[in-house]
Amino acid sequence: MNAPVVIVGTGLAGYNLAREFRKLDGETPLLLITADDGRSYSKPMLSTGFGKNKDAEGLSMAEPGAMAEQLKAQVRTHTRVSGIDPGHKRLWIGEEAVAYRDLILAWGAETVRVPVGGDAPEAIFPINDLQDYGHFRAAAAGKQRVLVLGAGLIGCEFANDLLLGGYAVDLVAPCEQVMPTLLHPAAASAVQAGLESLGARFHLGPVLNRLQRMASGLEAHLSDGQVIPCDLVVSAIGLRPRIDLAAAAGLLVNRGVVVDRQLQTSHANIYALGDCAEVDGLNLLYVMPLMNCARALARTLTGAPTQVSYGAMPITVKTPVCPLVVSPPPRGLEGRWTVEGQGADIKALCRDAEGRLLGYALTGSAVMEKLALNKELPALLA
Ligand SMILES: Cc1cc2nc3c(=O)[nH]c(=O)nc-3n(C[C@H](O)[C@H](O)[C@H](O)COP(=O)(O)OP(=O)(O)OC[C@H]3O[C@@H](n4cnc5c(N)ncnc54)[C@H](O)[C@@H]3O)c2cc1C
Repeated sequence: MNAPVVIVGTGLAGYNLAREFRKLDGETPLLLITADDGRSYSKPMLSTGFGKNKDAEGLSMAEPGAMAEQLKAQVRTHTRVSGIDPGHKRLWIGEEAVAYRDLILAWGAETVRVPVGGDAPEAIFPINDLQDYGHFRAAAAGKQRVLVLGAGLIGCEFANDLLLGGYAVDLVAPCEQVMPTLLHPAAASAVQAGLESLGARFHLGPVLNRLQRMASGLEAHLSDGQVIPCDLVVSAIGLRPRIDLAAAAGLLVNRGVVVDRQLQTSHANIYALGDCAEVDGLNLLYVMPLMNCARALARTLTGAPTQVSYGAMPITVKTPVCPLVVSPPPRGLEGRWTVEGQGADIKALCRDAEGRLLGYALTGSAVMEKLALNKELPALLA
């Protein structure tokens, strides 16, 4: 039998690539392997579950059996790939060798964990997949106070969602503003004020040193001496692309698994896309880039080598209390920021010396201007 095309990972990258591939090729054997339960879901929905009143079950869109049928593929769940042997075109699942025609790494990114002292580490919940979300929902049932670690995009989205779900939220992060790598300070202030209007309390500057179990819940001890009572902690301090197995197999890695514009790694017949991939120097942990990659890679895998392109990719942040769309200036481009508006309605634009728009941050009613502005934005990978 011909060796299959093997996709490792059944997140949005893995399943979308499989869909695109099947549109062009209905016959080649296709095997998907995933360490998790293989349910199809949209990860962005994890930070809107309370507001939309959906638990993990409610967010699941299809069981792996249904996906296998739809994709004319085999889906192996709860199966962790443990090694790659590029020289022999096979991968390892423990002692079992699996041959591939082409191998696609769509194994995502993992949550960054920092050591926290105290006797309650199990009360800290990273939420990076449907199973994590299910565990958190179960633990949060009947509780009232959540401490969110991290004030990046995902920390702010979780804070907004938990507030909508009726929780009291404290947010702790060692930075001066929310979303520091993404947002102009004026837009960051608008988002913070919006979340505060729902009751969020921000503790920007310190880190969590110690989490201590008490008779009536937990105590979070911060590095600046503050002590915050809470019932559980959501950790949203960042994601790190999975690169270890690729590096061990001799593939070129940097922040992510390094691939060219055809999504090929440094080894023939091995490709990568999604959160784990660094495409022509860009490791973008969003849905739109991986969809472009899935379409291009499906063509390459079916005999029409195709380079991926990225247009402008503005990010809609799910903080409904303060609508926010942001398009940071592309790497290496310097510009000057101007800010219009006040309060919740901020229009921050970054332009180069010739007046060309490089990026923006829009909040509140200024979000309405995004379509017009998007036409002016530069492509990220032309
Ligand atoms: C809470 C949250 C909200 C978000 N909101 C947005 C948003 O609004 N808009 C947006 O554009 N992006 C958003 N993102 C980012 C976006 O969801 C991700 O970029 C995208 O889902 C990544 O998909 P992926 O398939 O690359 O990775 P993942 O979904 O992480 O999938 C990785 C897969 O690989 C498997 N795997 C890992 N290691 C192995 C192994 N060794 N063997 C076998 N299988 C393995 C896993 O089990 C999993 O199936 C959000 C992310 C989060 C966490």
